[in-house]
Amino acid sequence: MVRMMRKKGVEQHPNFRAMKHVPFEQFIQLVAHAGCVIGNSSCGVREAGAFGTPVINLGSRQTGRETGENVLHVRDADTHNKIYHALELQFGKRYPCSKIYGDGNAVPRILKFLRSIKLDEPLQKTFCFPPVKEAFSQDIDHILETQSALAVDLGGTNLRVAIVSMRGKIMKKYCKPNPKTYESRIQLILSMCEDALQDAVRLNCRILGVGVSTGGRVNPQEGVILHSTKLIQEWSSVDLRTPLSDTLHLPVWLDNDGNCAALAERKFGHGQGVENFVAIITGTGIGGGIVHHHELVHGSTFCAGELGHIMVSLDGPECTCGSRGCVEAYASGVALQREAKRLHDEDLLSLEGVELKKVEAVSAVHLISAARQGNTNAQAVLKTASTALGVAVVNILHMMNPSLVILSGVLASYYQSPIQDIISQRALVSSQSIKVVTSDLEEPALLGAASMVLDYSTRRTY
Ligand SMILES: [Zn+2]
Repeated sequence: MVRMMRKKGVEQHPNFRAMKHVPFEQFIQLVAHAGCVIGNSSCGVREAGAFGTPVINLGSRQTGRETGENVLHVRDADTHNKIYHALELQFGKRYPCSKIYGDGNAVPRILKFLRSIKLDEPLQKTFCFPPVKEAFSQDIDHILETQSALAVDLGGTNLRVAIVSMRGKIMKKYCKPNPKTYESRIQLILSMCEDALQDAVRLNCRILGVGVSTGGRVNPQEGVILHSTKLIQEWSSVDLRTPLSDTLHLPVWLDNDGNCAALAERKFGHGQGVENFVAIITGTGIGGGIVHHHELVHGSTFCAGELGHIMVSLDGPECTCGSRGCVEAYASGVALQREAKRLHDEDLLSLEGVELKKVEAVSAVHLISAARQGNTNAQAVLKTASTALGVAVVNILHMMNPSLVILSGVLASYYQSPIQDIISQRALVSSQSIKVVTSDLEEPALLGAASMVLDYSTRRTY
């Protein structure tokens, strides 16, 4: 700091006083009475929390750490204006001191860590120190540990857990069949997370929290699954945050799979830096998420972004939600499978070189290959499905007017071009330029679940 002041010629300025090695008592007095503490990383952050003194953190070392409500993180403080604005927001404020630092779980977390140490194993990690040129200081934490999240994905078939690094790399993945009952499902989530936490230590990953993606409607503020999809039984009115955070001693975030897909695009995919976009995930069902002004739209009863239940016909086929004519009932994997089975039963789904004996094995994949081989029945089914999805997208464009639509899931690449065609045929002229792209992300649900932890574990970001 002194070196920088000298460089800028302000070392002798009357408003500045450069000091080195302030005695601790004096430092505490300064922090306790300051109108605001401004600095990088650990500069008084912890001490200020104890006194409720506001802090403006300009560095990146605290990113992802638990800090109190008193800390305003100013990332990329590259302009004077940004720092002036932060000062306007913070200067002279006082924050409550009680439980201001961390989430109150530090002691159980330390105890848990101590218990996890196996005394017969030598406490050694192998570190690779990257060469750093002309750096005044090195951030030991960043070198020693990768800030990471535990991501959980609860689908109709599988229960998956992954360790995801800050940059979106999946360090390790675990997959088991999703149990049919509440009790065994919770037990399995906990045991898979505990295994992953053990592995995280070996992988040098510091787990900041747990992010959960699940089917159904979710209240992310309370951490409660309100109504599940039919694919996951005993999963309505379930408080998932409490058992997870009580056992794992980590903060827990959750949201539904469609919203998680949108969050994944916002952090790691085509949605990076895009102010308004919509993500649509086409898999077994159809889900989605709406990002408006860089934030997810949840709606008044957490039902926004239920894009699979946009109705594209007044009657139409029955949907899993109990209604009719929803786009999910036309274009989802389940809907295509239903149509494929129907064609198969009527002996209309013949495939060159493929013997389809068991009707259970018939799926959307067979429908698509039959259509590619020129089967007109399969082509007609797929045309209806893609028209339905295209019409749903046009409805979304007219309602939200995003600048980008991102398709993900197994059927995304198939649907992209027909959707673009329907837009050019049916959308209002001013929304026809909107781009439809397919996602590059392999695991949108897991990455989205992880992004909640990676983005929100630092509580306040400027
Ligand atoms: Zn529906």
